[in-house]
Amino acid sequence: MASWRNWSGLVRCQPRTILRPAGEEELAAALPHARPPLRVAGSGHSFTPLCATDGTLILLDRLTGVTDHDTERHEATVFAGTPMHELGRLLHERGLGLVNQGDIDRQTIGGAVGTGTHGTGERLGSLSTAVVGTRMICPNGRIIDAGAASRPDVLAASQVSLGALGVMTRLRLKCRPAYRLAEREWILPAEEALETFDMLAAHHRHFEFFWFPYADRVICKALDETDTPAPEPRGALHGDAMSGRDRLAALLFEAARRAPFLSAAIQRLFTDELAKALPGGPPESGKVRWSHEAFPSPRPIRFNEMEYALPRVNGIAALRELAHRIRAGRLHTAFPVEVRTVAGDDIPLSPFEGRDSITIAVHQYRKQSYQDYFHEAETIFRAHGGRPHWGKLHTLTGNELEPLYRHWDDFQSVRQELDPEGRMLNAPLRALFDA
Ligand SMILES: Cc1cc2nc3c(=O)[nH]c(=O)nc-3n(C[C@H](O)[C@H](O)[C@H](O)COP(=O)(O)OP(=O)(O)OC[C@H]3O[C@@H](n4cnc5c(N)ncnc54)[C@H](O)[C@@H]3O)c2cc1C
Repeated sequence: MASWRNWSGLVRCQPRTILRPAGEEELAAALPHARPPLRVAGSGHSFTPLCATDGTLILLDRLTGVTDHDTERHEATVFAGTPMHELGRLLHERGLGLVNQGDIDRQTIGGAVGTGTHGTGERLGSLSTAVVGTRMICPNGRIIDAGAASRPDVLAASQVSLGALGVMTRLRLKCRPAYRLAEREWILPAEEALETFDMLAAHHRHFEFFWFPYADRVICKALDETDTPAPEPRGALHGDAMSGRDRLAALLFEAARRAPFLSAAIQRLFTDELAKALPGGPPESGKVRWSHEAFPSPRPIRFNEMEYALPRVNGIAALRELAHRIRAGRLHTAFPVEVRTVAGDDIPLSPFEGRDSITIAVHQYRKQSYQDYFHEAETIFRAHGGRPHWGKLHTLTGNELEPLYRHWDDFQSVRQELDPEGRMLNAPLRALFDA
């Protein structure tokens, strides 16, 4: 029997059958006879058990690439199985770039859209907001082309669907002309970063920071559009390539695992080292690359993660509480807390629906237990009106999630139409949508 696992190794399953269709007709013919639960997986970068099945796992690695594009409207239709790093290159070759991206490019575009994957930028939405059309193949083999003019309800539900409606094979994406970004990094005392956060987020096209609560310092990262020439794209960064900083972090995370009581000292040591290389304010100039090469960074150290989207106005208070809770409870973690902004949208199951948001992410080294730390963080995130990232760890049940989404029923009525027998649902999704 075949086996499948996610990136962090936390989710594993043994599907009875793996379908790797070479074309949409083949997929549409196979789905009605396939053994449920029918789950489609991208590149398995979700931490939650969204893809797990002992029935049929559908992989779209033979349905990749760009099928057509429009350089005047800045739109492209792409196969959903295309990995983000390949998509970036293909769009760039056509003079296009994605409006925003997350911090890695290993996911597939279908999987990234499936969970509302986002980058940072207070005026920019998640990747799901770039979707202006989709082709959905339902479990009974029916094919629906959804867009603003035809089945806008299916389009909206597909923009964040957790793969619960059917299999998206194509996405029409709103892009923009190819552009360059300059990356700047600097280090600040945490208090200064919190006090100036709104100004920094407004000033930069993309701003985020990584907070080391035990060291009381943050690493700031900004990406801004520039006309400065960029080197020719050099191809996708390898997800596991190690920089000198990563090698030091890997050593220190391993030390923190063996001696968790050293977590605080390790964060201080790590940020002292970073402070030797980074300026204490934004440098004049930064490294310039084409956008698809500027957004992602390799993530060679494997971890588990929880991330919540909080109403923007609650973000800073929640962060202060989180830092206090980590320090007062001497919680064991050497990883920083990642803080980003995302513009509100109108997608029924989007964590950003109806509100501009701050996202706060906590990480834990893959070999270290995360439960106590994530529990404390989740309590704070929930108290501040947070909604969990669908692809990252959380403990909320369907009964707790439903009231967080004003348009939950809109999603459910599309789901019930497209998959009346619930053949797309594995046990966690059944608990969510069909309890
Ligand atoms: C190292 C790392 C860094 C990350 N960085 C970010 C980040 O910067 N921002 C962020 O928001 N998230 C981030 N994530 C989370 C990640 O982007 C999401 O979990 C994303 O969904 C993973 O994409 P995937 O291709 O691996 O999809 P999978 O995890 O394989 O699948 C995700 C969901 O999409 C569904 N799906 C996949 N393809 C299709 C399809 N064709 N049709 C219908 N449904 C489909 C699946 O059924 C599943 O429900 C990160 C994760 C990791 C491990």
